Amino acid sequence: MTGFSEIFLSQQARLERLAAISEPLRQPQEIIRIAEQGRGLEAEDVASLFAAGRDRACRAELPAAANRIRMQWARKTVEFIIPVYLTSFCQNECLYCGYRQSNAIAERVRLSQEDFEKQLDLILSWGHRQIELVLSDDPEFGPDRVARYVAATRRKLDALGGGMVALCSPVYKQENYVRLREAGLDWVVEWQETYHRPHFDRWHSGSSPKRAFESRLDLWDHVIAAGITRIGIGALLGLFDFRHDVLAVIEHGNYLRRTYGIEPHALGIPRLKPARGVLASQKPNRFTVSDDDFRLVVSAYHMAFPTSRLFFNTRESYDLNISLVSAGDLFTVDCETLPGAYLRRHLPGQFTTHDYPPRREVAATLERRGLAVQYLAEETPCPVALAAPAPGTAIDTKGWIDEHAQIRARLQVWEAALQRLSANAAHAAERQAADACLRESLEYFKVVLTTHCRREESELFPALPQDADGTSKLAAFRAEHERFGVDLDKFARQMVSYGLSKDPTVLLTLGSRMIREMRAHLEAEEQMLSSDLGGRTG
Ligand code: SF4
Repeated sequence: MTGFSEIFLSQQARLERLAAISEPLRQPQEIIRIAEQGRGLEAEDVASLFAAGRDRACRAELPAAANRIRMQWARKTVEFIIPVYLTSFCQNECLYCGYRQSNAIAERVRLSQEDFEKQLDLILSWGHRQIELVLSDDPEFGPDRVARYVAATRRKLDALGGGMVALCSPVYKQENYVRLREAGLDWVVEWQETYHRPHFDRWHSGSSPKRAFESRLDLWDHVIAAGITRIGIGALLGLFDFRHDVLAVIEHGNYLRRTYGIEPHALGIPRLKPARGVLASQKPNRFTVSDDDFRLVVSAYHMAFPTSRLFFNTRESYDLNISLVSAGDLFTVDCETLPGAYLRRHLPGQFTTHDYPPRREVAATLERRGLAVQYLAEETPCPVALAAPAPGTAIDTKGWIDEHAQIRARLQVWEAALQRLSANAAHAAERQAADACLRESLEYFKVVLTTHCRREESELFPALPQDADGTSKLAAFRAEHERFGVDLDKFARQMVSYGLSKDPTVLLTLGSRMIREMRAHLEAEEQMLSSDLGGRTG
């Protein structure tokens, strides 16, 4: 099965470039207008928000806009959730984690099923109905054993009228998720930690099984194939440049939207915090995420995934979380991160957590803000899915045709530069001018064409007839979009080779093919606009 890793690995250079931009590609007001349509944002939009957010005044305006969007699209509720740790033995060496194998001062507890059920009874008596089972990578706590704990939780919740069981565990094989679903599992939570490969390798040292970067990237393809469509994605903020990792999460979420038509059920916002025996977490490093940056990330996620639940957790102080939580989010109120600690309380766990006021007080505060607190998630259709143009709805295609015209004009500039290079390869001054023009064209297409293709997929393609013909056209267009991205990277590499060898032959052949294919693609899409959507265009 192909998965997200195949696409993501070809997009890394693009994300790194976007994370570093200092000037927005679009103005914040325009991005807010796009977000208000409730269909999410592209990585380019969020990169622009980060760039615009360098200005303090602009940054300060984003939370209010994000809140407005959430109140428009998300449920007006906040759901309580509680983690229940099963084991703290671990065979991994994640350098940021209190449970890493070599941490000699970590408390090691493996919860027996009897103790687990005793603890669960206590938690359920407090009112909780969303239980997140959490475990480290303990060889003695494999998926079959986890399935028994899932089944016990399901049984107890059903006896009380229902509830949700989530799981945050090591990455398993697809068949294990089938088994867990059958045992009563509702959703899966997994953070990629960092999406930046070199830093992922640095933070996960030794022979840790967790070093399998691609398997983590492809996890959701397997979980969905196993029949679980509620998933919680995210990155641990503070392991690398937060801008890069947030853009990668956006990319991952958009991949799930386009490939499977699903919104992430939840989005993790964990931030690296001190843990006992973890030197790397004790003092700030160059990737430390400030409170101000954290607020910016929350606003960006709120806009980019207007109905997904941001997963607020007790790594953060109550005051910070309560000021940021918005409509449709998840909120952790009671949190112990050592197995069995709800019965014993306040033992050091995986990371440092904050004390929170009693649940009733939290609920009252949220209610004063117009948000009802729920212990159980509501099962309502996703508004974003409903927001896709319904058959029969008129579509204004003028904007699309205008953008095609602009892209065609730049294709002409690109073609002229290639011809100039071909005719004057021997003249240094002419070659330099052609080179500059090629570089400029390349940058333009990397940003504009990529953004254009992504918006087409999310805004226009849902309107295609849902028959066999429409589906195969959609698949062909998507494949072409992906190929353009790959070809643009190839072209960039060929520019480097040509710079060294001064032989432009491959560059010229590749460029001519790309221009030909892009023109044919634009034509085919315009054909689609006038035939398949002809009766519905404005
Ligand atoms: S993050 Fe998870 S896998 Fe890594 S050391 Fe901690 S508990 Fe183990």
